Amino acid sequence: HMTGGVGESSYANNSSLQKKASDMVKHITVETVQEVCYAVAPKSMGIADLGCSSGPNTLSIIKDIVEAVEGTFRKLFGAPPEFRVYLNDLPTNDFNSVFKSLPDFYKELKKDDGGGREQPAIFIAAYPGSFYGRLFPNNCLHFIYSSYSLHWLSKVPPALYDEHGKSINKGKVYISESSPPNVSQAYLNQFQADFSLFLRCRSEELVPGGRMVLILLGRIGQDHIDRGNSFLWELLSRSLALMASQGALEKEKLDSYDVHFYAPSKREIEETVRRDGSFETERMEMFEIGREKENGESYGTRVAMTVRAIQESMIRLHFGEGVDLDALFDIYGRMVDDEMAEAKGGIKPITFVVVLKKL
Ligand code: SAH
Repeated sequence: HMTGGVGESSYANNSSLQKKASDMVKHITVETVQEVCYAVAPKSMGIADLGCSSGPNTLSIIKDIVEAVEGTFRKLFGAPPEFRVYLNDLPTNDFNSVFKSLPDFYKELKKDDGGGREQPAIFIAAYPGSFYGRLFPNNCLHFIYSSYSLHWLSKVPPALYDEHGKSINKGKVYISESSPPNVSQAYLNQFQADFSLFLRCRSEELVPGGRMVLILLGRIGQDHIDRGNSFLWELLSRSLALMASQGALEKEKLDSYDVHFYAPSKREIEETVRRDGSFETERMEMFEIGREKENGESYGTRVAMTVRAIQESMIRLHFGEGVDLDALFDIYGRMVDDEMAEAKGGIKPITFVVVLKKL
């Protein structure tokens, strides 16, 4: 789970890269929501955000969605529908932070709505649990949104461990050049199993004509090793190895650490959707998040803070409370900055946005 609260290393304070990305594809989200309004026009509209986390991004996208529906409905019928908004994340997510910001959120919505008109009824609830399983009753949703969550697998692929429980991906945390071929196959199998299960569950929950907008990290070609997302994990492996060589953490612990992450290709996503058979891929685009400096911080520092907010709970659990995270992410940030230089090849993490329509 992401680091909760609103502290310096919290997800709330270190999710600006994700925010920027979801803003870049906001037009796709809004257009898809409008499509649903035209096609289904429900009196009571069910909307879910899967992997909502806690922080400013959570309610900001809900606001965009609600406003898009409201605008379309007022044009079509003169009045907005009733909204049911379901926020989902793992049970360990800091839902309390989200709940605490609800009064401000309602005020904000009212303010933007101008006076005089009938306010839409909005009912917001949290549905804690894994999206790799059923979360909602049958046919209760019209629109599902999920941003930067589906590249997280349900677990580290079990095939990464030999019969003694030892990782076959020693010294690396993700698919790397030195990984045996079984490693990428294990990751791909886990992704296909997880993503199929996700689609099967959502197909029960969405009404026909309902849509999903899924934003997730991925890779450009068929090759697993690239200067994109896999390279960011390569740098984390290198940072951990450096810490191990300095005696700051145990080498065996690094050998057995693997992330439950996968960057699928366009083809792998499309194939899984086709095999499931209950959705049509309406749209699929690939984009790269811009990387100008923010608040005078280097890009490496920003990426390091982002990865830390995501990885901290998992690294602590694996390496123990004693691990010096400041030192680790300091090394990591410097490595990212160093590799950003064009001469070295730069780093280009890419993202997919996929629009699926329930048949
Ligand atoms: N949507 C937010 C947060 C992305 S961080 C944004 O765009 O900024 C990814 C989130 O996915 C985390 O909060 C993590 O806890 C959640 N997540 C990962 N695996 C999950 C699962 N199986 N079920 C539900 N949530 C999951």
